[in-house]
Amino acid sequence: MQNVRMKLTPRHIGTWIVIRLVPWKGVQEKLFSWGRMIAWLWMYVKRPREDFLPFRCNVCGRKTSFPREELTREGWSCVHCQSTVRWRSVIRALSTELFGEALAISDFPIRPDLVGIGLSDWEGYAVHLAEKMAYTNTFFHKEPLLDIASVDPSQYGRYDFLIATDVFEHICPPVLKSFQNAFKLLKPGGAMIFTVPYIDGETKEHFPELCQFTLQKKEKAWILLNKTADGRDQEFSDLTFHGGQGTVLEMRLFGKDTLLRNIQDAGFTGIQVMGEEYPEHGIVWAPYFAEKAHYRPPIYGLDTPPWILRTPGTD
Ligand SMILES: [Zn+2]
Repeated sequence: MQNVRMKLTPRHIGTWIVIRLVPWKGVQEKLFSWGRMIAWLWMYVKRPREDFLPFRCNVCGRKTSFPREELTREGWSCVHCQSTVRWRSVIRALSTELFGEALAISDFPIRPDLVGIGLSDWEGYAVHLAEKMAYTNTFFHKEPLLDIASVDPSQYGRYDFLIATDVFEHICPPVLKSFQNAFKLLKPGGAMIFTVPYIDGETKEHFPELCQFTLQKKEKAWILLNKTADGRDQEFSDLTFHGGQGTVLEMRLFGKDTLLRNIQDAGFTGIQVMGEEYPEHGIVWAPYFAEKAHYRPPIYGLDTPPWILRTPGTD
């Protein structure tokens, strides 16, 4: 069994201390916000000004800057709201799809006629989207509930947009079913703003026969015990979690070729990969090497941009 090793940084240690010692969410957020400001000021003092990319965060609408070569898909880079390149790129994709231009959320028009849902979206932009449109953030484990693998037909064709950012790699197989459900939820001409980590080639399903399963700890590491549909017992080790050990299990590593087939098989007809850089919103796609990142086991594909997946229109 692979040992779980994490390179500990002052940020990790600080986060751990706050989470263990401060049970109040509001106070935690305040402390994290101060921690971010201190980290940003430290970089600002230590580095030459020309290293910094100035940009306007399209989530909180505020002007900020961050060292260009430190911008990553997953690390915070807006000192004010903690948004990452991924979250800003999702908002950019949503804005261009709905309004034909790249607006910050604060500049979105008020459009209660636009109906959308997020699948466990980041609270940092979800609250602002809900102020502008008939948008609801949904969850797998709490209200408002939505399990994209099993959707109530009464929901079909109700939504102008659906946001699923880094969710589909965690859904139980077969994942095609969830793509089909996402398609059915959308109105004709609707769009899904979609991100997952992926690499070139074909998708690697880690647990293709998953049916009835539990996660357990064995000798300090997590294992997955599965009973297949035909009654066989399976045990898997070397599990990959996103967001820390024992949290959100990686069910598959998507390959771009399989992903494109899944999307087309589900019925989507327009696919736009938003891979361009938009430095004015701090959206820059830095090279990423899974082995050099601090995630163990490595998480691959964390340098991938959002895709816009469109359903056929009414005309
Ligand atoms: Zn921001």
